[in-house]
Amino acid sequence: MKKFISEFKEFISRGSVMDLAVGMIIGAAFTAIVTSLVDDIIMPIISLISGGIDVSQMGIHLAGGGVIAIGNFVGAIINFIIIAFVIFCMVKALNKAQSMVKKPEPEAAPTTKICPFCKTEIALDATRCPNCTSQLQ
Ligand SMILES: [Zn+2]
Repeated sequence: MKKFISEFKEFISRGSVMDLAVGMIIGAAFTAIVTSLVDDIIMPIISLISGGIDVSQMGIHLAGGGVIAIGNFVGAIINFIIIAFVIFCMVKALNKAQSMVKKPEPEAAPTTKICPFCKTEIALDATRCPNCTSQLQ
């Protein structure tokens, strides 16, 4: 149980949890905006175009008193498509920004040098050339 608590503390203290929380709060607010956009703006426009049919109230009334709420379902699908599209655009923009920020890898420090006498490649810290045996400074 103690291990469990310490693991939980470690999990909470990690920065990614806060990022996740911020993301969820923004996501919830964003979902509310999209739901309002669909219910209050898109659905009335659809019913206007379709000649006064209120799509959001559309449904099939069953004999037992239940309702198959097709309108709600269609609204949820439109919600999903809008959210998926916006997330797709965000991910695309993020990927582009990341690839712009990415710097070229620094060149590895040289480990060899060219012997001034025989022009062959030798170890950087060599004091005598292994090929022509010349003394090097
Ligand atoms: Zn040499």
